[in-house]
Amino acid sequence: MELRTSPQPLDGKRCSTALKERIAEGALAVKVGRGRPPHLAAVLVGEDGASRTYVEAKVKACGEVGFRSTLVRLPASISEDELLARVQDLNADPELDGFIVQLPLPPHIDADRIIQAIDPRKDVDGFHPVNVGNMVLGLPGFLPATPSGICELLKYYDIETSGKHCVVVGRSNIVGTPISILLSRNTYPGNCTVTLAHSRTTDLPSITRQADILVVAIGKPGFVTAEMVKEGAVVVDVGIHRINDPSRKSGFRLVGDVDHGTVAPKCRAITPVPGGVGPMTITSLLLNTLQAAQ
Ligand code: NDP
Repeated sequence: MELRTSPQPLDGKRCSTALKERIAEGALAVKVGRGRPPHLAAVLVGEDGASRTYVEAKVKACGEVGFRSTLVRLPASISEDELLARVQDLNADPELDGFIVQLPLPPHIDADRIIQAIDPRKDVDGFHPVNVGNMVLGLPGFLPATPSGICELLKYYDIETSGKHCVVVGRSNIVGTPISILLSRNTYPGNCTVTLAHSRTTDLPSITRQADILVVAIGKPGFVTAEMVKEGAVVVDVGIHRINDPSRKSGFRLVGDVDHGTVAPKCRAITPVPGGVGPMTITSLLLNTLQAAQ
């Protein structure tokens, strides 16, 4: 008879709590050393509900670790040039260690132009081409928050990565592409053989079934089902979606890109949604801000 054990949950809240203790100690040392704590600013353009929630969570997390934070709210009608001017102000502000411009931006603003205007030394989201280049070359710089958070989570749970076949589904600039680079580097976590799949991949299930480590970031609720996953795989579900659920008091629940109910029983370890990658993203942003302050 086959004996099944439950998969290990890769608990992002638990890992974040441990990391935040270290970050808080670092923040205190910065405060003692130079008379003010690390300071992060978040720029929110417009009133998009999800963006507001993300930004407010980032500001709240700053308070938890003793950082100063500033929320810069700007109207959706702001012009690209006006926003560029605000970015230059933040670049020049000596009281500020790092800042982020919450994406997505309104369609009349070229997000690439805005990101490229951020001083790479204050780009704690790690999206500026200089930081992306440093990541690719393995040089010091700011790593993008979500992929860096996934690496911290794999480290915290001592997940073996060397020699493993990692399949990343999704090739966005903020998640899929950078995690594929980080996991192929000659370090830990890393040394994986990485396959990067996307919407043009032929016969995706035959690829995902080869994964020892499967990272899914495609933005489609419950897309990855049990038959797409190898027995004993480690699954990292980056997706996050709000779906209606009349049985909940809130009227909704959060789900990932992975059909957790059918996939989890096959896995050795899996991230929950919520409480997996999400908390790690915010904690990585705090780590980058501490690094900027140091
Ligand atoms: P994007 O929409 O930018 O990218 C999606 C990627 O998935 C694209 O590369 C696309 O391929 C690929 N894709 C789409 N459909 C398929 C398919 N049927 N088969 C294979 N590949 C497919 O998404 P993001 O990377 O920004 O985000 C992905 C998810 O992660 C979202 O749910 C988002 O909300 C969530 N997220 C969560 C974070 C967290 O902290 N937990 C942080 C960031 C994102 P192609 O390039 O060919 O179009």
